[in-house]
Amino acid sequence: MENRERIVILGAGESGTGAAILARQKGFDVFVSDAGKIKPYYRELLDEYQILYESGGHSERLVLSAAEVIKSPGIPESAPIVKLLRKKNIPIISEIEFAGRYTNAKKICVTGSNGKTTTTSLIHHMMRKAGLNVGIAGNVGRSFALQVATESFDYFVLELSSFQLDGMFEFKADIAILLNITPDHLDRYDYNFQNYIDSKFKVGQNLTEEEYFVFCSDDEITIKELEKIVSKAQQLPFAYKKKDSDVAWVGEDERMRIEFDDVDFSMSVHELSLKGRHNTYNSMAAGIAGNVLKIRNEVIREALMDFQGVEHRLEDVTKVHGINFINDSKATNVNSTWYALESVKGRIVWIVGGVDKGNDYSELLNLVENKVTAIVCLGKDNDRVLKAFEGKVEEIVETESMEDAVKTAYYLGRDGETVLLSPACASFDLFESFEDRGRQFKDAVRSL
Ligand code: ADP
Repeated sequence: MENRERIVILGAGESGTGAAILARQKGFDVFVSDAGKIKPYYRELLDEYQILYESGGHSERLVLSAAEVIKSPGIPESAPIVKLLRKKNIPIISEIEFAGRYTNAKKICVTGSNGKTTTTSLIHHMMRKAGLNVGIAGNVGRSFALQVATESFDYFVLELSSFQLDGMFEFKADIAILLNITPDHLDRYDYNFQNYIDSKFKVGQNLTEEEYFVFCSDDEITIKELEKIVSKAQQLPFAYKKKDSDVAWVGEDERMRIEFDDVDFSMSVHELSLKGRHNTYNSMAAGIAGNVLKIRNEVIREALMDFQGVEHRLEDVTKVHGINFINDSKATNVNSTWYALESVKGRIVWIVGGVDKGNDYSELLNLVENKVTAIVCLGKDNDRVLKAFEGKVEEIVETESMEDAVKTAYYLGRDGETVLLSPACASFDLFESFEDRGRQFKDAVRSL
């Protein structure tokens, strides 16, 4: 069926290019507009599908002639072109909303401030082990839209960021998972935490009695918000210590249990491949999803035991002369670093710093005083880290390159201690990305 309505796509990265390909396949008149440079890989894809595009700026006339606009999650509301579209009341949606219209696959959707990629990958791993025909998309891997256009999966596990959720309206998950909510990205939410909370809760929008809402009942923000809203979905809360309605928890015997309807699952937390309390939460969420999908207990257990983890998330690198090195480069906020410091056994030499998004380090003080022997600051501007921790640890040293940071940490570390890179900050002052930071860390450790 030809559909000559004009769809304009803002941003030609992974999601924008995928959306363009799907829109083209569905017969729309497609135009892609990117204010910056388009990477050669995406340029080639757009050419291959004969999609019109521009880069280095937006042609207003062309963009404003859209019946609907698909905006990449990286473009903020404050961008002039977005403001203009709002003024003209042209609907703006996300790639996920758009692609959701063209698939009947069941969708397991994961959001939260931390743990999205880990939990999404873990659920995907479990479902594949169970022999299900499942794709992984959203904020990880190839875009959802591209996979809807080119694959025929029965299921998708989708990692959803708040920016993607902002552009979702009719979309409905089959299993919605909200891991936790802590302040993040407030610069994109008018510094109003409630706006960010509202965005995260969109993962559960439109759910009926047929669908499931999985959440952490230890998360105060989630619980407070749930008191305000009415959800028809079947609620499946998890917690560390069982409260009334929780369906998953860790017992006194250190066994993780999942019990609801006819589900009766248990395994020792020591058998979980992902270590640390935060990862136990992620494993519980994944285990609940597995049970909703009626995956057999043996398969769920095996998946939780042999999942390899995701690079740059509490990743064991190696041991050098009795000193253990862990790469947690993805920890770009205080909350994820809190869990990293908590999960490491023994004393820590902590590498921290980078672009600080207004961190409140006081939450870490207790853990630092109890576990950290030395701090290695790694950032262009370390004032805030120095101010927060000077006098609280034996040593605090400033460095400006990964090589220096690793050498210094190695020098300060003692037998049996752990050097932990968990920066609590973004990476853009000294690195291209958190992946680049993590890779440089591993390279420097391996060449000690
Ligand atoms: P996201 O995709 O939400 O950024 P990741 O799985 O990439 O989450 O993990 C980001 C960081 O948060 C890592 O440092 C990881 O160790 C930490 N983390 C993972 N799960 C949780 C959780 N449930 N709560 C807090 N921190 C977590």
